[in-house]
Amino acid sequence: MERKSQIYRAITFNDKARIAAIDTTDIVNKLIKTHDLSPLGAAVLGRAITVGAYISSNLKKETHKFNLIINGGGPAGQVCVAGNGNLEIKGFIENPKVTLPYKNNKLDVGGAVGKDGYINVIQDLGLKEPYVGNTKLVSGEIAIDYATYLLQSYGVRNAVILGVLVDKNGCKASGGLIVELMPDADENHIVVLEDIVSLMSNFSDLLSKKSIEEIMDFYFGHFETTVLSKDEIKLKCDCDKKIPDILKGLGKKQIQELLDEGKEIEIKCDYCSKIYKFNEEQVNKMFYEC
Ligand SMILES: [Zn+2]
Repeated sequence: MERKSQIYRAITFNDKARIAAIDTTDIVNKLIKTHDLSPLGAAVLGRAITVGAYISSNLKKETHKFNLIINGGGPAGQVCVAGNGNLEIKGFIENPKVTLPYKNNKLDVGGAVGKDGYINVIQDLGLKEPYVGNTKLVSGEIAIDYATYLLQSYGVRNAVILGVLVDKNGCKASGGLIVELMPDADENHIVVLEDIVSLMSNFSDLLSKKSIEEIMDFYFGHFETTVLSKDEIKLKCDCDKKIPDILKGLGKKQIQELLDEGKEIEIKCDYCSKIYKFNEEQVNKMFYEC
């Protein structure tokens, strides 16, 4: 049975901790096909997509948007995820076929991403200027990097677990658990939470056997836990709305030179790999009629 990608949000420990359990397995399998990702490429992008799903679920309005950019100078190149407050997300990785030897019997996500750079989160909240936050990468493993970002940008104590279980046949599980503690969280709660989180450290393995509801119920069911929401996360690209602007951005002179050489103008969307082609007539229509 195909599992829908979803985010399950709850509050626990006398409202002192907010939990988000995220399943992005289905989205990662679609991204593997769209971008022809290597298993390592899928592990890198899958982790970033799970963070993106979380950022998306924190946006207050459907029209709010975000961009998550991770660039650590490693062989994976830049990792980009974008989305909106309607839980529609998309993502790509500069080098989708990145491959490295295994490290400690695991895909070397940290080696692929690198740690010589930043994690950037740009949020368009409908204000004059976007909210831009960035933190220096710690390991390139993405989970600890995002945890550091949350702590440094918002002062929030937190735990971030991300995992992608993938081989050459596809993704068996991708998702994560993100816990944010309220400022007045009790030390006892923190200790219990740390214990639970340490039990869940192999999250993708857990998610390959259980649904996120079952995981939440198993680990948090015996505490006072209130479910806040359970929403589907969708993989969706909106490039059809942006391509005319990108074409105009190329500049009329450059476009005319290509057309004079008898070439069609071709633009490929990095996020969904869709290719748009424009002939002279269509280009003229775009430049003179709007
Ligand atoms: Zn697209």
